[in-house]
Amino acid sequence: MLFVISYLLLVLEKYKLNRNFSEKKEGQTQMKAMVLKEICNLKEKKTPLELTDLPEPVPGKKEILVKISACGVCHTELDEIEGRTPPPRFPVVPGHQVVGRVEATGKSVSTLKVGHRVGIAWIYAACGKCKFCLSGNENLCPHFRATGRDVNGGYAQYMTVAEDFAFSIPDIFSDSEAAPLLCAGAIGYRSLRLTGLKDGQNLGLTGFGASGHLVLKMVRHRYPNTQVFVFARSAKERAFSRALGAVWTGHTAEKSPEKLDCIIDTTPVWKPVVEALKNLEPGGRLVINAIRKEEGDKDALLELDYPTHIWQEKEIKSVANVSRRDVSEFLALAAEMDLKPEVQVFALNEANEALVELKTKQIRGAKVLRID
Ligand SMILES: [Zn+2]
Ligand SMILES: [Zn+2]
Repeated sequence: MLFVISYLLLVLEKYKLNRNFSEKKEGQTQMKAMVLKEICNLKEKKTPLELTDLPEPVPGKKEILVKISACGVCHTELDEIEGRTPPPRFPVVPGHQVVGRVEATGKSVSTLKVGHRVGIAWIYAACGKCKFCLSGNENLCPHFRATGRDVNGGYAQYMTVAEDFAFSIPDIFSDSEAAPLLCAGAIGYRSLRLTGLKDGQNLGLTGFGASGHLVLKMVRHRYPNTQVFVFARSAKERAFSRALGAVWTGHTAEKSPEKLDCIIDTTPVWKPVVEALKNLEPGGRLVINAIRKEEGDKDALLELDYPTHIWQEKEIKSVANVSRRDVSEFLALAAEMDLKPEVQVFALNEANEALVELKTKQIRGAKVLRID
């Protein structure tokens, strides 16, 4: 009897020891992340992010832990770093175009299983209860939280997210191809939706970056009788847009040969907005797809002339965030169209180089971090 009891005690001790060990080990599991510690001016500081060891996050009840394989680099990261849309706390891991596989699931996760490939977009959370959430505009929810700004994002080896805010990635895309679709593509899709464009109407695009090129491809597919006019500063961007089917291209200040029913502006500045309004048809709509505008050329707004730019029932509308509907509808459309973005791949520890290239407009396709 005594022997049995002492044996049991021994087993119990061993179990406790193991448990302590694994708990300790779990607490100490570290991951690599590129971290932003403070707002800074990218012109003065070329290395805003620091490669840091952070504790691997642990998923809550309804959350999944994602082992990240790719994360897109977005212009919004520049706005976060330079303080135009500042993160509420530091340090923070940026990145909101995240692709990876489920590594672990919380107790109440019901549909996703370990090994599933998922994407995480700008929308990290919304309350689900307010009038905006209930009317399908969760992107306007006052409790909207953005991935990589309000919570840690994808410039890291791991992140956690609620199961309901993760998206399945269609099989036809590689991880790096899928990443830019989660932001540039989804927000481009929302912008296009907000223009109210009908097939056969003229569409203008001011600025021709990652989002613009995806919008042009979507328009060619969905609105075959629509003519697309592209305004861009760089000759390279203009040539690229012509190759993709733009009927006319010009500098941002040029007059288009025909009036435009809708225009989507993706530039970070003001002058193109003012110029674009001149090209708008009466009753036309200009949609500004930018989370913040830079302040540098705000004076351009003083050139606004009511009869030339605004009168005749012209409308200006902005795009704020994305809803889950935008992301999932866009992913399905992209798969249907076989829409694969051109990507330029960087390693996780090269994130600063990618950001500086984006800042200095060295754009050769969408920039994506490959993460092992
Ligand atoms: Zn983005
Ligand atoms: Zn809400």
